[in-house]
Amino acid sequence: MTEPGNHAVAMASETAAVPLRGELRHDEPLTRYTSWRVGGPAACLYRPADRDDLANFLAGLPADEPLFWLGLGSNVLIADSGFPGTVIHTQGRLDTLKMTAADCLYAEAGVACAKAARFATRRDLIGIEFLAGIPGTIGGALAMNAGAWGGDTWSHVERVETIDQQGRVHSRSPGDFVVGYRHVDGPDGEWFLAAELRLERGDGPAAAARIRELLDRRNATQPTGLPSCGSVFRNPPGDHAARLIEAAGLKSMRIGGAQVSSKHANFIINTGDASAADIAALIDHVQAEVERTSGVRLIPEVHRIGAFSR
Ligand SMILES: Cc1cc2nc3c(=O)[nH]c(=O)nc-3n(C[C@H](O)[C@H](O)[C@H](O)COP(=O)(O)OP(=O)(O)OC[C@H]3O[C@@H](n4cnc5c(N)ncnc54)[C@H](O)[C@@H]3O)c2cc1C
Repeated sequence: MTEPGNHAVAMASETAAVPLRGELRHDEPLTRYTSWRVGGPAACLYRPADRDDLANFLAGLPADEPLFWLGLGSNVLIADSGFPGTVIHTQGRLDTLKMTAADCLYAEAGVACAKAARFATRRDLIGIEFLAGIPGTIGGALAMNAGAWGGDTWSHVERVETIDQQGRVHSRSPGDFVVGYRHVDGPDGEWFLAAELRLERGDGPAAAARIRELLDRRNATQPTGLPSCGSVFRNPPGDHAARLIEAAGLKSMRIGGAQVSSKHANFIINTGDASAADIAALIDHVQAEVERTSGVRLIPEVHRIGAFSR
């Protein structure tokens, strides 16, 4: 137990007044928790049994324990050296999904976006069909303001519940957050526990058909099924990152096992043996080349976690 995170979690386990019911892992490789299939180990990884167990776990951690929240890992690049703290893994754990009013859906952070979208259409509620194609959790969608085909997550948020590092739960309104394109700023030291999404009454079967159509469009234009993080860069105002990357002649460019997709230039694929360093180097190269050739500095959408050389 020499890693800071292991020590911290040992303290959490020993000091918890109520026994922990979640799953605790030490030195857990994060490769299998990310859609790029890269990333070194987390000193500790905790999969809470439910929200009370999570609050209990957090309350037992030292106040300065480095924490990272992970959903489906579809928008993170975790360094090959890993994360020297505690990862809270919500996917499939904080999984309550229910109606709280005729047009209000309540989803905890670990619910898959696709599950929430289908749950809504089955109840003749429309507006979040776009979530069906986003391979993430509700927590990740809230943190990123995930969106597609003109829709985005925060347009539907009525209220969120957050939790802080001491395990205290807060109820917050959208006004407590600054929400932008693939970017959300909120109260420091709080993470998403759940959201209440307000939807419209509509034609459920038509919405289900729209989901199928949107998924077909994705399959036709994106390298779905290959390890990626979706779009690496935000689209600059009035343009598309993919167009700029292609115009810079970077389609299919490779560094190590990382490659710019030949199908969609804003996707970087792990061809099999990429390291996080390969992917980071390719992102940096694409950013520099696009700036050199077009004058546009692309902003990465993907979050880098852990230590990278730049
Ligand atoms: C094939 C493919 C297609 C994609 N298409 C789209 C698309 O169309 N539109 C789009 O917006 N995105 C898209 N993405 C990116 C990604 O799926 C979304 O950003 C998604 O919202 C990430 O959710 P996640 O649960 O995987 O988050 P993660 O990748 O696990 O985490 C992303 C960030 O959110 C934070 N986070 C996660 N959970 C919480 C929480 N509970 N509280 C606070 N912070 C949290 C993490 O700490 C991290 O900073 C795509 C990705 C792939 C692989």
